[in-house]
Amino acid sequence: MTMMIPFDNTYAALPGQFYSKLAPQAVKAPRLIAFNEDLARVMGISPGETAEMAQVFGGNTVPEGADPLAQIYAGHQFGTYNPQLGDGRAILLGEVAGTDGTRRDIQLKGSGRTPYSRGGDGRAWLGPVLREYVVSEAMHALGIPTTRALAAVETGETVWREGALPGAVLTRVAASHLRVGTFQVFAARGDRHSLRQLTEYAIARHYPDAEGPMGLLRAVRDAQAKLIAAWMGVGFIHGVMNTDNSAISGETIDYGPCAFLDVYHPHTVFSSIDRGRRYAYANQPSIAVWNLAQLATALIQQLEDPQAGVAEATEIVHAMPQLTEDAWLTRFRAKLGLASAQENDLELVTGLLERMAENQSDFTNTFRALAEGGARGQFTEPAAYDSWAEGWQARLADEPDPQAVMRAANPAFIPRNHRIEEMIAGAVAGDYALFHRLNAVLASPYADQPEHADLQRPPAPEEVVQATFCG
Ligand code: AMP
Ligand code: MG
Ligand code: MG
Repeated sequence: MTMMIPFDNTYAALPGQFYSKLAPQAVKAPRLIAFNEDLARVMGISPGETAEMAQVFGGNTVPEGADPLAQIYAGHQFGTYNPQLGDGRAILLGEVAGTDGTRRDIQLKGSGRTPYSRGGDGRAWLGPVLREYVVSEAMHALGIPTTRALAAVETGETVWREGALPGAVLTRVAASHLRVGTFQVFAARGDRHSLRQLTEYAIARHYPDAEGPMGLLRAVRDAQAKLIAAWMGVGFIHGVMNTDNSAISGETIDYGPCAFLDVYHPHTVFSSIDRGRRYAYANQPSIAVWNLAQLATALIQQLEDPQAGVAEATEIVHAMPQLTEDAWLTRFRAKLGLASAQENDLELVTGLLERMAENQSDFTNTFRALAEGGARGQFTEPAAYDSWAEGWQARLADEPDPQAVMRAANPAFIPRNHRIEEMIAGAVAGDYALFHRLNAVLASPYADQPEHADLQRPPAPEEVVQATFCG
């Protein structure tokens, strides 16, 4: 059986300034770790023999119909503009149109050096590859827009980070890899023509109803506002919300130092490189606005008179905080079992969150417990919960089926940081059992799975992950 990927490439048909065409660099001994059959099916990919898939997803064989390239982009990293980033360790093989009408990119990540590698080795090690595989698929199952994982391969090569580590390649699938930074690179060059081409391409691919650059800006804003609210609702901290990691599609992209809250605190940061705490949990809505402002600044450069676009672009950007808050409140209402909207719901939500922050409450387990008879046990001082729950109970009287609403909004299972670390340590030692178990359990995060209750347990003090890394 030969693998068949029905490529239908549009990005590769754009003019040459948007990419560099090159093939992935071959690896020594590719071994297939995982292949996502469910995702392959909706993409119309027919799987092949394991050995053949290892060759393709390791980057040794370029499959028929692929037109491999590295994309160019720039970006603000922690607020500082870097004029030249680009795929330094990734190759876009091409796109497939999909059996569900959704066009998707297929990209190898960790596939060797490219013209955009700068000082990097172009490679990835096993840990971040497995982390992205598990967490991106978990996000998808949670119902959050995200890039996905089609395959993971061990390369049989050594990658040097803190020490010698096993190399790996992730096959990432995305609605596209267009980023805010893709627009920034051409805006910074004053290349109005390329900006227009890119805008037209992005609209056709993602927002066919949008009109012109301001229509695109509005559509990206709406998608990002919903995305950030969804992150907040599951306690997700992206960790590196640079403009090159902000997708035009509104998908979550770049699972580097990301992490989920265990104990709730709004100022939580895990990323070892986020020293200024710029990308803390509660900062994410404001950072998304900051990123949108960079997109606005880039997009207006394509107008005959960029100054003439400032007023409208500003208005679009300034509307984002309220849109995010509205989407956030809808999410958190559901987390409290509220399908309808009432005046004092915001106070009810913030009242709970404040008490959670003061009482070392586990974010995921507290909300899940609300649907199961009360979250009292999640508070170091249960009286704090009691004083809040009184008003909540009164409010629930107006709701027909709050239990069902809560169970659909409050996952039982998230990829907990300490389990991810445990899974990586196992895999480095050759044991992939936890990797496969996490994938299976996290595919149904809202279902009770009592036989996997150990995966709901917060970390013991000695298991708490203090910092995460980009890899
Ligand atoms: P990130 O922080 O993952 O968004 O990456 C920022 C930039 O660094 C992108 O241009 C990446 O392609 C590049 N990069 C990250 N890791 C490597 C690596 N090991 N080799 C080459 N480029 C890399
Ligand atoms: Mg990135
Ligand atoms: Mg990254």
